[in-house]
Amino acid sequence: MYKKIYRNMCMLAMTTLILSSILILCSCYTYLENQFKAEIENEAKTAAAFLNLSPLSEENISDLNKSARRITIISSRGKVIYDTTGKKLTNHMDRPEVVSALKTGYGTNERHSGTLGEKSYYYAIRLENGDILRVSAQSGMPTMFYSILVAVLFIMALMYILCAIVATRLTDNIVAPIEKINLFDKNAIDNAYDEIQPFLKRIAKQNEEISRQTGKVTEQKARLRAIMDNINEGLVITDNNYDLLSINVPAMEILGIEDADVKHRKITVLTEDAKIHMVLKKALGGEKNNIMFEARERSYQIFYSPIYEEGKISGAVLLLFDVTERTNTEKIRREFTANVSHELKTPLTTIHGYSQIIDSGIAKPEDIQGFVKKIEKESSRLMVLVDDIIALSRLDEGTDDAPKEVFLLKTAVRDVVDALLEKAKEKEITLSCETDDSQVYANYAQTVEMVYNLTDNAIKYNKPHGLVNVKVSSSQVIVTDTGIGIPEKYSDRIFERFFRVDKSHSKKVNGTGLGLSIVKHLAKANNADVDVKSVPGEGSTFTISFRKDVTLENNI
Ligand code: ADP
Repeated sequence: MYKKIYRNMCMLAMTTLILSSILILCSCYTYLENQFKAEIENEAKTAAAFLNLSPLSEENISDLNKSARRITIISSRGKVIYDTTGKKLTNHMDRPEVVSALKTGYGTNERHSGTLGEKSYYYAIRLENGDILRVSAQSGMPTMFYSILVAVLFIMALMYILCAIVATRLTDNIVAPIEKINLFDKNAIDNAYDEIQPFLKRIAKQNEEISRQTGKVTEQKARLRAIMDNINEGLVITDNNYDLLSINVPAMEILGIEDADVKHRKITVLTEDAKIHMVLKKALGGEKNNIMFEARERSYQIFYSPIYEEGKISGAVLLLFDVTERTNTEKIRREFTANVSHELKTPLTTIHGYSQIIDSGIAKPEDIQGFVKKIEKESSRLMVLVDDIIALSRLDEGTDDAPKEVFLLKTAVRDVVDALLEKAKEKEITLSCETDDSQVYANYAQTVEMVYNLTDNAIKYNKPHGLVNVKVSSSQVIVTDTGIGIPEKYSDRIFERFFRVDKSHSKKVNGTGLGLSIVKHLAKANNADVDVKSVPGEGSTFTISFRKDVTLENNI
């Protein structure tokens, strides 16, 4: 603004100065030139009158010589008779002023003389004797013009400096109040210059709109960031130079990036994982696909894709899904299927073998009874196995919807003990039970099944004349035996499907390897935990702990 005012003021001042100077100079020049011409004419007329009275002689030559102008007398044939400069001049018949004077009685002429544009003015007049008298003089006007021009230039320089000073002050005076205006203060705008008020109001309105929009954008950005950070999936966005544009917290955790300030840093520097480098390269090359990725003992599926802007690849996006559960479930399912096939095949092969021997008639009659017994044993094992598999499959499908009720734990425990007393007796095991009045909110049949499996195992894996105690205390069922015990390293694995510490022993006692797995599932479905403490050779203690449920409080 300062520059503009300054420039405009200087331009205005300079233009006015130059135009007025030109105008004045031109008028002065014309006036002086006319004056000068008139003077020469007067002088010529005076000299002519003088010579008409007394023709040129030795006496009046001295009078003519007194004149400040140059006087020349030329004969009617153009010969210079006399010249006050005393120069010997050539024939003047070619001079326009002489020719004109011969014809009309007088003639004028002007000629440029000198380098600064000086001019010589001529006035010729015909004398009565036919000769021509010519008066001439050189004008000093160009010299005067140049000295005026110097003065004008000097004044222009002065004006220029003056303009600079005035423009600075003027600009400061105009701009300072504008600069101080607070566009968010309505009063300040109302008190500003009238001329700029509409403009300021418009800016203030736009400012308000901008801050409103900025606030909205910031809010949306924060919300988006919160969403991005709170989803379980990792998200990585880079530009086509591998510079990070966005990464959420889960992705940073998965890729092990700990730096807080990661924006616009190269992802290839932040993580050295070759698989990440490779998928980014593929995505930036235009490929869209997915790949499995292992990190921090978990499995992820990375979906990678290029980002297109105006038909060109401008970056890449990676989405990292945690598929650990799915992978594990699939692994368990595969193992389970393989185990089921194997477990079913063994008794079936035995049954098939013995049936073939009997059917072919090669078996001795006295052996047939033994074979039938074996077939019967294997088929009952098969039935137990199939029952367990069916039970597990049902549990896999979901057991949460099994109806729950509040009941005394000791009722379920007594049912189990009663059912297994005979079996314990057969194995010479002493089965005892002690109970309190704990109540639980659970599915009764499932609770019986859990206690049954644990007590049955305690009898199966016991030593002759061993003890089994089933105790109910503070919402817990504690099954203790004095059996063979379980090595510590297997205390978790025994809950896996088909896992058996000693396979041959398990088979001998009609075990399937599914009992504890079913117990674990049922415990979970009934809001309970199951754990084991065991000393090999001394015995084991399995505990089912029912968690206190609000529903229980409400239902008692
Ligand atoms: P199984 O049908 O073989 O008994 P389980 O799932 O019930 O299958 O038990 C898994 C394994 O845990 C058993 O094969 C056995 O080796 C071990 N086990 C379970 N209960 C006991 C126990 N009370 N004493 C010693 N070992 C046990």
